[in-house]
Amino acid sequence: MTWQPGDAIVRREIVGDAPWLGWMVNVVEDSPNLLAIYSPPGSRFHFPPGDWPTPDGRHPWHGYQGWQGQGTLMLQRPMDRYAVWLFWDGPDREFQGWYINLESPFTRTEIGIDTMDLELDIVVAPDRSWSMKDVDLLWQRRQEGRFSLNDVRSILDLGDGIGRMLDDGDWWWDDEWIGWEPDPAWAVPAIPRNWELVDCAIQPTCEVNMSRPVSYPQRARSRRAAFSR
Ligand SMILES: [Mg+2]
Repeated sequence: MTWQPGDAIVRREIVGDAPWLGWMVNVVEDSPNLLAIYSPPGSRFHFPPGDWPTPDGRHPWHGYQGWQGQGTLMLQRPMDRYAVWLFWDGPDREFQGWYINLESPFTRTEIGIDTMDLELDIVVAPDRSWSMKDVDLLWQRRQEGRFSLNDVRSILDLGDGIGRMLDDGDWWWDDEWIGWEPDPAWAVPAIPRNWELVDCAIQPTCEVNMSRPVSYPQRARSRRAAFSR
């Protein structure tokens, strides 16, 4: 499955064998060494209904309509465990910096790509100073059973490695992306029906030793069962 610039696909974040979050993005570049996608402003967040393991049982993104402000560009090389996000802001699309989002390598599906957020992030300012974000969340996920101790160690090692890469100025992504602009003709259709279905025959995260939240939505479960018939 490969795509052309402007194609609208679903970017999903998968936990175990079910989607945690999904939204529509446009493909910017799909080449052997790089997948670049764009989250356009207003692209709605989707998540399965049900009881989520949060204090009020609602999904953590409940109440958020979707992407606000200027859109976000996401660069990821195949098999990398992080993507490089670029943010702009304001009417003049002033560059706000990079955001290294640690996530599992993307896999291609019939409707888009699947990945899994690894919680740890690295914020890189336009002057290239950087800082880690959400280290504490790793330990919270460990307590909740989503990450094992080895997962946490491996994610911290990954973050350290990226930090060294930043310190060395050894970036693989091009500064020219800072000046990139989306094609105003690109459209973002509604998310496909049944976007929640996860095909474990092609989805490696199903095999990841990562117990999903205890009260995972029943509806998503039953739909998966129907899908695997
Ligand atoms: Mg993240």
